[in-house]
Amino acid sequence: MIIVMREGAARESIDRVMSRIGADGLKPVPLVGVERTVIAVIGDERKMFVETFAAMPDVEKVMPVLRPYKLAARESRPTTSVIKVGGIPVGGPECVVIAGPCAVESEEQIVETARRARDAGARILRGGAFKPRTGPYDFQGLRAEGLRHLATARTETGLPVVTEVVDPRDVSLVAEYADMFQIGTRNMQNYLLLKEVGQTRLPVLLKRGMHARYTEFLLAAEYVMSEGNPNVVLCERGIRTFETYTRNTLDLNAVPAIRELSHLPILVDPSHGTGRRSLVSSMSLAAVASGADGVILEVHPDPENALTDADQTISCADLATLMPRLSAVAAAVGRKLGA
Ligand code: PEP
Ligand code: MN
Repeated sequence: MIIVMREGAARESIDRVMSRIGADGLKPVPLVGVERTVIAVIGDERKMFVETFAAMPDVEKVMPVLRPYKLAARESRPTTSVIKVGGIPVGGPECVVIAGPCAVESEEQIVETARRARDAGARILRGGAFKPRTGPYDFQGLRAEGLRHLATARTETGLPVVTEVVDPRDVSLVAEYADMFQIGTRNMQNYLLLKEVGQTRLPVLLKRGMHARYTEFLLAAEYVMSEGNPNVVLCERGIRTFETYTRNTLDLNAVPAIRELSHLPILVDPSHGTGRRSLVSSMSLAAVASGADGVILEVHPDPENALTDADQTISCADLATLMPRLSAVAAAVGRKLGA
């Protein structure tokens, strides 16, 4: 159930509805919008007397949300949410490009990539310090040292930083350095991790599980939001299919489909979605054409020698060539790219 408050509803009216929900043994979660506040009711809704709420001051309407996710549902907010990542809006009129290496390898590598990505027009820097690798003997990332290098790159370039967190015990450490958490495909259903990042207010880039359906994806977002963190950005990064030429199958259906189902912004990751450097530019253009709020790209000054995901990493020069093409596609679908 969601309770839609009138435009300009008084603070006391909102508080009164919230405490009434609490008194019924349910949990109120407010979604404060620019124009109006919507209060989602979490728990067994059979306990709720709709008429009581409908009659309260400043309540516009009480609506059932039939989907299993409530806070993430499009019904609870008609316009796409704009999530600020270190001051950069994601989900607004501007499409954002997030760029950087798969893994932070050294201070020089991340600072150089950040400078060149920023000069090409990227707005946010990516780089893994904690890497969830398929094999335990593979490079696991520079961990805390990698986080420090990311912070240096942010100071040098002004780009906000997104980096993956893989363990609930590292959430507060990563939060000290990052502007946005990344939850990777393997952890999309790690509910303890989702709840832990939900306890913070730092934005979360939630990547789709490689086997996840849209409902499961949105329920993962709901785990974060129901803990009180509304700042979730979704990311389609390809799913496992029978095809082996590409690493994954980039499911661009997800972009307009998620747009229908949810108000959360959605990005696309054509690097993991294809696994092949030669396909990344085409699928980035397709992602923006499909209505994505931006792309996240693996970029490295020397991609062939990247320590992780070399096959799908593009060069800084490739990024610079791609940007004006992305800009043209963005304009064709009524969006802007870059500042
Ligand atoms: C990554 O972004 O480098 C990564 C590991 O992504 P995913 O979780 O989508 O595989
Ligand atoms: Mn990677």
